[in-house]
Amino acid sequence: MTETDVVIIGAGHNGLTCAAYLAMAGLRVKVVERRKVVGGAAVTEEFHPGFRNSVAAYTVSLLNPKIVSDLKLSDHGLRIVERRAQNFLPSLDGSYLLTGEGRTRQSLAKLSERDADKIDAFARELETIADVLRQFVLRAPPNIVEGFGVGAIREALNALGSANILRRLSLEQQRSLLDLFTRSAGEMLDERFESDLVKALYGFDAIVGNYASPYAAGSAYVMLHHAFGEVNGKKGVWGHAIGGMGAITQAMARAARGHGADIELDAGVREVIVERGRAAGVILDNGETIRAKYVASSVNPKLLYTRLLPADALPAAFLDRIKNWRNGSGTFRINVALSALPSFAALPGEGDHLTAGIILGPSLGYMDRAWQDARAHGWSREPVIEVVIPSTLDDALCPPGRHVASLFCQHVAPQLPDGRSWDDHREEVADLMIATVDGYAPGFAASVIGRQILSPLDLERQFGLLGGDIFHGALTLNQLFSARPMLGHADYRGPLKGLGAHPGGGVTGAPGHNAARVILGDHRALFG
Ligand SMILES: Cc1cc2nc3c(=O)[nH]c(=O)nc-3n(C[C@H](O)[C@H](O)[C@H](O)COP(=O)(O)OP(=O)(O)OC[C@H]3O[C@@H](n4cnc5c(N)ncnc54)[C@H](O)[C@@H]3O)c2cc1C
Repeated sequence: MTETDVVIIGAGHNGLTCAAYLAMAGLRVKVVERRKVVGGAAVTEEFHPGFRNSVAAYTVSLLNPKIVSDLKLSDHGLRIVERRAQNFLPSLDGSYLLTGEGRTRQSLAKLSERDADKIDAFARELETIADVLRQFVLRAPPNIVEGFGVGAIREALNALGSANILRRLSLEQQRSLLDLFTRSAGEMLDERFESDLVKALYGFDAIVGNYASPYAAGSAYVMLHHAFGEVNGKKGVWGHAIGGMGAITQAMARAARGHGADIELDAGVREVIVERGRAAGVILDNGETIRAKYVASSVNPKLLYTRLLPADALPAAFLDRIKNWRNGSGTFRINVALSALPSFAALPGEGDHLTAGIILGPSLGYMDRAWQDARAHGWSREPVIEVVIPSTLDDALCPPGRHVASLFCQHVAPQLPDGRSWDDHREEVADLMIATVDGYAPGFAASVIGRQILSPLDLERQFGLLGGDIFHGALTLNQLFSARPMLGHADYRGPLKGLGAHPGGGVTGAPGHNAARVILGDHRALFG
């Protein structure tokens, strides 16, 4: 039996961030991870002899700069570079849109002068609201509490602080905020733009990890969620971690260990120990017991509360609701080893566009049909895919002259209809995804010399992402902010004393940072 102050379930980037902050503050911390590697969904692996790539998460922007700085991730080897162009959207009719600093307006003007005149205003509108979100990211959202105790006073102050942030917005900006939290991205984009490709540029952000039509209410929030990041101080920009996403979590693990945290791998948690109505530690799959004052969890909340805790440890109403926690982001992920760079018919040959996020999904109508098709059939016969070729920015991922690409495919059903299994359809769907890319870049399929395929079921088995959900729970209004994971528990404290969790969305580090703050606050209140 081991004893520690805090045991953290899972060494994903949030578990590691939490561990680093707690250890930095002097607490004894033990992280227990089911897999043989740290990193959770942010890992780099050799998937084909001589070819490495980020396995699941593949591109950086949301990672919070304060965390990069506090954990001194650069000193621990992390280097993030910007894409030379941000997004490239080819169309099968030969037109394309290429975005990035100094390019967007000019490229869009070739498609629509009218849209080119409007895009800066829309980008500013998003940026203003994203700035507000940035102020909320590193603090627990206001939590709903019953009664008038200490918790009520704390939350009243928190709500006042939040209101104060919102008060700085003009009335018109508050209207935009309401639109972005409640409306569909499709409606908002149709009102502003006429070109399909510029609508698809923003529409893609609205369906990334969101198994829904871009015309579904709430999809505008998902679009906003993908706009609040930054790379090396440049807002709204996406980049690449040299060495892949695993470089981020390796640096975090070094930071946590450097402050004294103990990280045990191949150490799955079988059960959270509950004593006198309080979490008191964990029991591992191998039977080892770790006792702790606090238990922090970075696994999907449904997994935590329905599989790792005895049912009678939780209020029945809470358990009923968490059983219905909505998972399933409709994601299918492929890594490919390439003998050569792809050449897109709309913009042939090499160039900065090959460093961009290449979005194949040329209109909102196409994205809507993809979702409808996936609902009926299990996957879309005309899928939406983002292709990223990290080896254009990082030559250590594969042999010279060769390349690796990440295919992030949207709109497959988390569970196939009619009881079919993803195990029986994985290869067929991967073939379809590769053929879809080939439609835009003839010769692509023939250049594939190795591939790694992750269906929603594989993502669940490998990473514990229920339904393959990349965000540990859909980013729908009823599962966001003060309602994440449930009204009354948005403050990183679950219904069981001593056990906290807060599902994040993307490689931000924010839930890990915020959970550490709450644990430290509670610890100081108890022990001074
Ligand atoms: C295919 C895909 C693509 C994505 N692309 C991006 C992207 O490009 N950019 C971006 O910012 N985000 C992306 N995301 C989202 C992002 O990767 C996740 O939101 C983020 O990594 C979650 O981090 P986490 O630490 O909260 O959880 P996780 O990374 O899921 O870590 C949880 C850890 O808990 C472990 N665990 C589970 N059960 C147990 C147990 N019983 N005992 C012990 N340990 C356990 C798991 O093995 C895992 O290591 C993507 C995700 C996926 C799946």
